[in-house]
Amino acid sequence: MHNAGQPNKHRNMKLKKYLILLVLLFSILISCKSSDKKTVHQNIEKQTNEIFDSLVEIRRNFHQHPELAGNEKRTSKIISEYLSNLGLEVKTGVAGYGVVGILKGGKEGKNIAWRADMDALPNDFPDEVSYKSKNKGIQHGCGHDVHMAIGLGIAQVLSKNKESIKGTLYFIFQPEEETFVGAKNMVNSSLFSEMNIDEIYALHVTALPVGQIMVKPNELYAYQKRIQIKFNDKFSKEDAGILYNHIRSEILRKKDGANPWEIPKAFDSIIGLSNPNTIFKDYLFMEENFVIEEDNNQLDIKAYLYETNKSNLPNILPKIEEIISKSEYKDKFISTSFIQENPTVLNDKLLTENAINTLTDIYGSKSVVMNYGQIPYFNDDFFYFQQKTSGVYFLLGGSNLEKGINAMNHAPNFGVDEECIRVGVKSFSSLILERTNSE
Ligand SMILES: [Zn+2]
Repeated sequence: MHNAGQPNKHRNMKLKKYLILLVLLFSILISCKSSDKKTVHQNIEKQTNEIFDSLVEIRRNFHQHPELAGNEKRTSKIISEYLSNLGLEVKTGVAGYGVVGILKGGKEGKNIAWRADMDALPNDFPDEVSYKSKNKGIQHGCGHDVHMAIGLGIAQVLSKNKESIKGTLYFIFQPEEETFVGAKNMVNSSLFSEMNIDEIYALHVTALPVGQIMVKPNELYAYQKRIQIKFNDKFSKEDAGILYNHIRSEILRKKDGANPWEIPKAFDSIIGLSNPNTIFKDYLFMEENFVIEEDNNQLDIKAYLYETNKSNLPNILPKIEEIISKSEYKDKFISTSFIQENPTVLNDKLLTENAINTLTDIYGSKSVVMNYGQIPYFNDDFFYFQQKTSGVYFLLGGSNLEKGINAMNHAPNFGVDEECIRVGVKSFSSLILERTNSE
């Protein structure tokens, strides 16, 4: 109002000056903010390096004392003590031996969770490390010992950056993953409803090159279904073998020359998951192995099948019925059904894109690789969390073939290059911190 009487020309020049000043101020502000951001993540990297050796030690401690699903008593105690020592509020006995560490940030904001699974496998493979399992017949053959070390590491790094966190972080240590019991029980606990989580993240170490993070929006694994086909007493075991192989070949859908059941190829740099034309895309197959069960003058075939496309799932049973109806066994057929089916890990599209951008922005374009396929056989009960809240599940490479380490989960020679702990802790500490500061 004060300028209302000034000549127009003078006013315009003054306005121009103001504008230039404003632009200058704005760009200084932006560059300050981005250099601030750089310092924060450089600090995270430094803090990760400082605790790396102790995280390796705790991973080896878990590795030496593995516990089966539902028995994670010792593991749970170590985790809760570790989190308490970091100054976190700790809830124990969540859905069995589950532990939740709560870290309140310096300001109000979102509720973000990180989940690590805790259980080991009933294996007795030779394990070529000096810190072998002391519990006979039990081994950390899926890498959950590494997941726990990374989860504790992220909690530790972020507890040092508490003041920069807007909101509350929940570090969920989940028991009974291998049996698909733990996550389900945890999401049904009263604590989980109270947490009111906005976003949840997790990872799984696997046979990618050490430190390689891989992710994909939507389904990460193929849908697994167990099918049962019932026949009357006139159907013989020999018939079953012939018919099963016929159904299997008729129902098969895959790329030419590809065998999506050959899991090691998923990590091949040419035909594997990182190629947009991967062989692990758009397939349906039934496992070669099937069982025959006799029950009350009936003969049942039971087998697993894997389908990548959700929209094709309702077509599978009608298709099998059609194949049988055109075969010489049609009069012996009674019914077919799915007797076991689970959802699959389903990554939120927006959060996945966001995570890729954030991680590549901080740690470089090679820090994350896009996954274009869906691996069969594997799954993770993390999908129960994703049914309640948006979340992203990452793969993290643990293989180092030069060192003779192959992180192929559940394989007899499963091993992990512990350097992946460093990458996991710094990358996901950075990601979570950025998420707490996002709108
Ligand atoms: Zn696992």
